[in-house]
Amino acid sequence: MAQKLKRRLTKPPLAYLELHLTDHCNMNCCGCGHFSNVASAWYADPESHNRDMRRLSQLFSNISSIHLLGGEPLQHPKVTEFLSSTRRGFPQAVIRLVTNGILLPSMGQDFWRCCRANRISISITLYPPMLNKEDALRRLVSGENLELVINKTSTFWASLNPKGDSDPARALRACRKMYYTPFLREGLLYLCPFSANVPTYNRVFAAQIPEKSGAIGIHAPGMTGWDVLEFLERPAEVCRFCSFGTGVRKYDWKRTTKAKEEWNFDLVPGQE
Ligand code: SF4
Repeated sequence: MAQKLKRRLTKPPLAYLELHLTDHCNMNCCGCGHFSNVASAWYADPESHNRDMRRLSQLFSNISSIHLLGGEPLQHPKVTEFLSSTRRGFPQAVIRLVTNGILLPSMGQDFWRCCRANRISISITLYPPMLNKEDALRRLVSGENLELVINKTSTFWASLNPKGDSDPARALRACRKMYYTPFLREGLLYLCPFSANVPTYNRVFAAQIPEKSGAIGIHAPGMTGWDVLEFLERPAEVCRFCSFGTGVRKYDWKRTTKAKEEWNFDLVPGQE
């Protein structure tokens, strides 16, 4: 009874949230975990994002960390609208704009002002082709008085099991030990970026990985944040297509050839 009352009267915090401002990217990494190397141009809708932020703030007391990414989010012509509405929804959150850095030097004063006004951190994922730009990017962001995080990434992981015969509970347990990345897309909260972005893979490669099994609608009447947290711990049909718990294939960063096998965890030599 006390538990039921708590669920009705309190809001839990959510530890982390990420979402795309665009699906497509200007870097073209092999085996991109968000399928951005094969995605069509897609731009998130600022109104829909605003609605989702308002709704999430009804469900959760706070979201500790929110990452706005892609694709490459700086390709979105209305990027500042997302920064402002995310901050409006979550005044206490750490909000990071996650970029590959290519477009940062071309951003205008409106962008930088909006980042400062909304306490946005810039998080640069520095892939090998951009390593020689590190110093210039550091100077640029610190000159704008913003917090900067740089993650140098030269290794990728392939974890797609195209046979779909993984044990979903085992896969979820293994992936949750490494990361917790609920992913928001147009009113649906997904278990992870793979489950949210798999429609791109299905469309490009005529595959049939389940598309919404790992998603919960946040606007459903009567829904609580507690319900959402419980959902995010439940394995879904899509987890059958993940190789976490069985093995992953690590490889050095390279450009994509857009081959379906780029994502396979059990690629045999010569198939690349
Ligand atoms: S599909 Fe399931 S197992 Fe795979 S990353 Fe997402 S939550 Fe984890």
